[in-house]
Amino acid sequence: MEPLETPGVALIFTPHADDAEGGCGGTVSKWIKEGTEVYLVLATDGRAGTSNAEVATNDLVDTREQEQADAARVMGVKEVVNLRIHDGGLEDDAVLRGHLVEAIRRFKPDVVLTTEPYHRLNHSHRDHRTIGVVAQDACYPYARDIYHFPEQIDAGLEPHKVGAILFWGSEDPDMFCDIGESIEIKIEALKQHKSQFLGRDPGEGSRNRAKQNGGKVGAEYAEIFRQVSFRR
Ligand SMILES: [Zn+2]
Repeated sequence: MEPLETPGVALIFTPHADDAEGGCGGTVSKWIKEGTEVYLVLATDGRAGTSNAEVATNDLVDTREQEQADAARVMGVKEVVNLRIHDGGLEDDAVLRGHLVEAIRRFKPDVVLTTEPYHRLNHSHRDHRTIGVVAQDACYPYARDIYHFPEQIDAGLEPHKVGAILFWGSEDPDMFCDIGESIEIKIEALKQHKSQFLGRDPGEGSRNRAKQNGGKVGAEYAEIFRQVSFRR
């Protein structure tokens, strides 16, 4: 596995509140300390993220947006965009693709980070698969070409070429980031999602996973990704 270089601008597409911190929280926190601008798009409203029937849906949506905002602040993310698509309702369609293309054209990232869409061995959440596929298409060729979503260009956005996409949760990782200096920020960010942990401490599990990944690359703690680079 190869170590990642620190990009100038990074954009996270997270399907649900709390996915990004587990997947890339240490990496982006480290990059932010090194001067990277990081932006985050939260795709769903998180309404399905409870097994407690007494939690009203609207309350949960507000709570999870607030928790994501708090976690983003802990990591140092510059701005969070909430798309508020129904939890479980992400589709590979022009609606989601248009939202992601618009974010790419607005924030102009060198690197996009999101969930791995392709698994052979394990099942993954439909929203995770969907946003991975749509994010890759949004990077290339949709954000790059002026004739895709031309209304965005008319409104003043410019086409943008993303350098690479990094998928967390991959069965075939080929890149890593040593997060020894940012593991505590990652865990602190994860802890902001209180509605998802209900008194449990997510720290130990997160630390153990980072340690396991670190063992694969000779670091104490690491996050690992599958990278796809786009033709410039
Ligand atoms: Zn999720």
